[in-house]
Amino acid sequence: MIYMLEDEAGIRNFVLYALRSSGMEAEGFETPSALRDAMEHELPDLLLLDRMLPEEDGLEVLKKLRNAPETRKLPVIMLTAKDSEMDKVEGLDSGADDYIAKPFGTMELISRIKALLRRASDSHAETERLEIGGLCVYPSKHEVFAEGCKVTLTLKEYDMLLLLMKHRGEVFSRDGLLKEIWGYDFAGESRTVDVHIRTLRQKLGSCGEVIETIRGVGYKAGDEPVD
Ligand code: CA
Repeated sequence: MIYMLEDEAGIRNFVLYALRSSGMEAEGFETPSALRDAMEHELPDLLLLDRMLPEEDGLEVLKKLRNAPETRKLPVIMLTAKDSEMDKVEGLDSGADDYIAKPFGTMELISRIKALLRRASDSHAETERLEIGGLCVYPSKHEVFAEGCKVTLTLKEYDMLLLLMKHRGEVFSRDGLLKEIWGYDFAGESRTVDVHIRTLRQKLGSCGEVIETIRGVGYKAGDEPVD
């Protein structure tokens, strides 16, 4: 998912159309506050950030993102009408990963986006790996390996496994998992969780035992890490 913060509707719609046409999911926002609201629900894989905005400057928006732990490493491409060397330096200094001056062609933008996403996933892949026993999850690549063999999971199975592994040793109730993975709408349908846990365990084979049932409470993966 790519988010774009750009107050000019013409540019925003044009870029969103180009991204979607090339198979990317994209959402656009007119103001920093609208972007923040959206980020509370879902973090994007990459942000296209305009420099001149209502409410606050794009650089200010970027600084705040870099100061928050969950968006510290979010790939950001700054877009701007100002094409001076000074602005470019400012943009990169303040933590943008790339910088593109308006007017830009959509082909160039898309190739920069792809390059940045590739870079981001490479650097995550090196650092971010969750491992319990023979079970290994690479969050940036959405890949799961059980005893070295790649496992194909549904989105919900994957999300649930990732949540449990990220919070190693923590017990999640069925309702807690429903809330985290399915949202509030499904409250009360806790059997859904059991069904997904069952298929998840089956797919993980011998690594399925990493997910433990805590009778009368819910599920957990592994034990609290000891450092
Ligand atoms: Ca603008």
